[in-house]
Amino acid sequence: MNRGSFRRRLVLCALLCGAAGCRQRQPPVRKTWLTMGTFASVTVPADDARRLEKVLPALTNLTASVAADLTVYDPESDLSRLNAAAGEEAFQRVSPHTVRMIEASRRIAALTDGAFDPTVAPLVEMWGFNTGAPPARMPSADRIDRVLARVGLEHVSVSNGMARIRTAGVAMDFGGIAKGYGVDLCYDMLRDAGIENMMVNIGGNLRVGGRPEAARPWRIGVRDPFDNNRLLGTLSLFDGDAVATSGHYERFVTIAGRRYAHIIDPRTGRPVAGMAGVTVVDRAGVAADGLSTALFVLGPDALPAVLDKRPALCAALVPDVRPPSLIATPAFLDRFTPAARVRDRIRSIRSAERD
Ligand code: ADP
Ligand code: MG
Repeated sequence: MNRGSFRRRLVLCALLCGAAGCRQRQPPVRKTWLTMGTFASVTVPADDARRLEKVLPALTNLTASVAADLTVYDPESDLSRLNAAAGEEAFQRVSPHTVRMIEASRRIAALTDGAFDPTVAPLVEMWGFNTGAPPARMPSADRIDRVLARVGLEHVSVSNGMARIRTAGVAMDFGGIAKGYGVDLCYDMLRDAGIENMMVNIGGNLRVGGRPEAARPWRIGVRDPFDNNRLLGTLSLFDGDAVATSGHYERFVTIAGRRYAHIIDPRTGRPVAGMAGVTVVDRAGVAADGLSTALFVLGPDALPAVLDKRPALCAALVPDVRPPSLIATPAFLDRFTPAARVRDRIRSIRSAERD
């Protein structure tokens, strides 16, 4: 875990403490483990500590199985084997996790005009995001175009639990939704175990159930992308809500002295510039995670078009310009309490149809 996300966890912990229970006689209980290259945790009121203890081994097994199937770092993973078979005629049996990731990707791609696209994997590799070894020089336009020719979900098919990538050289990477998906699986397992009030967190992708105390909802901080130790404001979260944040501070590469976010614009084949952070609240972790990545690509100008397709979209974008400002949908502003210094730096975006 990098320093940025560690700090983010600290801010989150401090806030949870303030919001959720340090004034109670028994503080909430949190269990933490490592998975998907980051920290996962579940927080529950003290009353549910024993229930959480009981379900914890099953939870860690569950996230381990998702990570094992979807990692691109292990050439034997379910996803790597599908990627390696690209160009072959036959459909291949794949894990249910892989099938669901492909289907979820299609839904998010449809909502965002293809801005979300897991077939950017060869570009992610070319730009050195996964290896931490960026190219010393900017890749040439020719080279980018050659890789771009192999990007697109139309190369991928799913049928009866089987999948196929019909074009050699096409590959997928679900880094943009896998953590949100893991959060949903944990959430469902906790609910099935009879735990109603909880917060699940995988690397900053959150989902909450119930409320931390009878009198108030869960509340989390939205971090200032330019200053790890400050918040832009706080968000109230209600039963079943999920939140995800994509930010340029999360992971990036430096090429020829410039910093590039680890999110690729599938239309240009280049890392996205211009955005500092995007936060999305949705009714499932996988949607929040995927949409935060996609809106990072699309930027504020495309928000009205996405709102037309999804009027309840709850999102805020922070452009890469200091001091920070927010461009947010009405649903986001309904549940957001801004810090004083950003209160007059917020713009509300409505759907194009209503304008
Ligand atoms: P984080 O992993 O820090 O939570 P994101 O959820 O925004 O951040 O996911 C970023 C990851 O998504 C990248 O590391 C890459 O694997 C993948 N990715 C990059 N660009 C895209 C894109 N346009 N569509 C789908 N996935 C992408
Ligand atoms: Mg994401």
